[in-house]
Amino acid sequence: MCGSRFVGLSTAAMYGISIGAGLPALFLLICLAIYARKKVNDHAQIQQQNHVPDIPTTTIAQQLPVSVMGLDKLTIESYPITVLGESKRLPKPSDSTCAICLSEYKPNDTLRTIPECNHYFHSDCIDEWLQLNATCPVCRNLQESATPIPSSTSSNT
Ligand SMILES: [Zn+2]
Ligand SMILES: [Zn+2]
Repeated sequence: MCGSRFVGLSTAAMYGISIGAGLPALFLLICLAIYARKKVNDHAQIQQQNHVPDIPTTTIAQQLPVSVMGLDKLTIESYPITVLGESKRLPKPSDSTCAICLSEYKPNDTLRTIPECNHYFHSDCIDEWLQLNATCPVCRNLQESATPIPSSTSSNT
């Protein structure tokens, strides 16, 4: 008789203990889960903020170096022109081939002379060349910084 009552009490106590201990444990677990989640979110937010670059990289890519070294049309047109006659009298008889298109000068060809070095070419050829390069295609003299080359002009001695 007594035994059955004891058993009944003990089961009730067991339930009480399990509920009493289980609820705070569950509560603690939920709290931990919420806390952990918040921590992860905070961390992710910080990482995202760090990943956003302060300066957009597109502006740097747009600043391409300007490497066009050609002469302007006015400078090219200021160079003297020679129109070959029927006699094909060249400024320098030894120089009878255009160094750009590698073809011989023909009568009525229009030549343009680079004053700095006295090299001449077809005006069509050299005009196109000088728009891209400011150097003579033969001697590679820089035309823009036209420094006079001291040649046989020293007549002091
Ligand atoms: Zn030519
Ligand atoms: Zn030249």
